[in-house]
Amino acid sequence: MPQLAGPLQNIATLETVTDDQKVQLAKTLWGWTPCENCLGLRCVTRTCPSRRMARLDTFFKYYGKMTASYVPSLLPGTRPAIQSHNDITEIIKLLKDNPDKTRSQLINDHFSSPNQQTQNAPTDQDKNRAFDLAVRILVMVNSSSDLKATNRLEAGEDSAVWSEDETFTKFMETSFPKSTAIAHNNPQNNPQRGQNNNATPRLANIKALIRAKRLKRIANLKLEPTDDIKNHLHLNHENGTVEIYHHFSVLKEDLMLTKAAANLTMSESIKQ
Ligand SMILES: [Zn+2]
Repeated sequence: MPQLAGPLQNIATLETVTDDQKVQLAKTLWGWTPCENCLGLRCVTRTCPSRRMARLDTFFKYYGKMTASYVPSLLPGTRPAIQSHNDITEIIKLLKDNPDKTRSQLINDHFSSPNQQTQNAPTDQDKNRAFDLAVRILVMVNSSSDLKATNRLEAGEDSAVWSEDETFTKFMETSFPKSTAIAHNNPQNNPQRGQNNNATPRLANIKALIRAKRLKRIANLKLEPTDDIKNHLHLNHENGTVEIYHHFSVLKEDLMLTKAAANLTMSESIKQ
């Protein structure tokens, strides 16, 4: 990977996602440890996570769509904030390892790391764009900083604001209030911390997911798939549709990761 990729090269790099890159992403998101000499999709080792690649196809397509839609700010003397899939997994890893740092600290940490330091730095807007993209992949919530109006526009009107001086943990707690936490956080298992329990963010609405299926039967509503879990169960009265988060396989991966660790604080669950 050259240090300074041109815009076209950048776009071409991010439009294709190889199986290796998918595995790298799954390693970062869910701690996958593929078997030795893994054959990826064609792997026959019974316990190997790579065998679950196929069922995560919708998620990887979503990932590909997100990365392909990334358009960097290309001002003279700057470089794109994302130049490879590896840049994205590095940001995701940083978010997971340091959820109690603020957005501006994390952005600074990432772009001042040795393999990011080049003469030409990305614009601030582009740095924020890179982080919003990583958040979308990691927790499947559209986010934006409150700094640049353009970022908000790109992320969509309903994007959740993650402010510069707010920690990632705080942002997630605000996005997923305790009342929506999943039932498997049984306070009786741990009375002292029962009030602070929170499942992996994406799991927050799994119960509602089940309710949605009943809703369709009872209310005869049309279900519309959404990639943003915060829009899950969003009801549109006018056309009688309800949005449904449709990455079931992603929820399954999250469940597998957190099964043994139900009583976690938000910060701990992000680090999983
Ligand atoms: Zn394997």
